[in-house]
Amino acid sequence: MKDENCIFCKIANGEIPSATLYEDEDFRVILDLGPATKGHALILPKEHYANLYEIDEEVAAKAFKLAKKMVTELTEVLGCDGYNVVQNNGAAAGQTVFHFHMHLIPRYKNDDAGFGWKTGKLTDVDRDDILERLKK
Ligand code: 5GP
Ligand code: ZN
Repeated sequence: MKDENCIFCKIANGEIPSATLYEDEDFRVILDLGPATKGHALILPKEHYANLYEIDEEVAAKAFKLAKKMVTELTEVLGCDGYNVVQNNGAAAGQTVFHFHMHLIPRYKNDDAGFGWKTGKLTDVDRDDILERLKK
C-alpha cells in the first residue's frame, strides 16, 4: 500500500526524483538531503509502513540484507572507516518522516557527526523489573 500524503512513498516509487544509489522491486536507496556525513543514505521500502512496528517481517528481513550489501559496497566506494545503521521509530525516538527507513551513515575517523547517547548504569531494580515483565 502507498500513502498519497507520504513524501517517502513518492520518492521510493519515483514520483519525486532523488539521488538513487540502488533500486529493486521492493526498495530504493537514496542519498539523504541532510547528511550527517558524506554518503549518508536511506533505505526506503516502496510500500508504505510507518515504522518497525508496522513493517511486514519479510520486508524487514530484506531491508537488513540490503543494508549489509549497501554498507559493504559503499565502504569500498567512499573509503570510510565504519558505519552506523540507524532506524528511528516514533517522534520520541527522533523519527521525522513516518515511512519506515534505515539510515546508512558512513563514519570517518575524526568526523564530527557526533551522535550517540549518554550512558547510564543498569540498576538491579530496572533489570529485575524488565526481566519480570517479559515473563508474562
Ligand atoms: P528520521 O528523522 O525520520 O529518522 O529521518 C528522516 C531523514 O530524511 C532525515 O535524515 C532527513 O534529512 C531526510 N529527508 C527528509 N526529507 C527528505 C527528502 O525529501 N529527500 C531526501 N533525500 N531526504 C529527506
Ligand atoms: Zn510512505
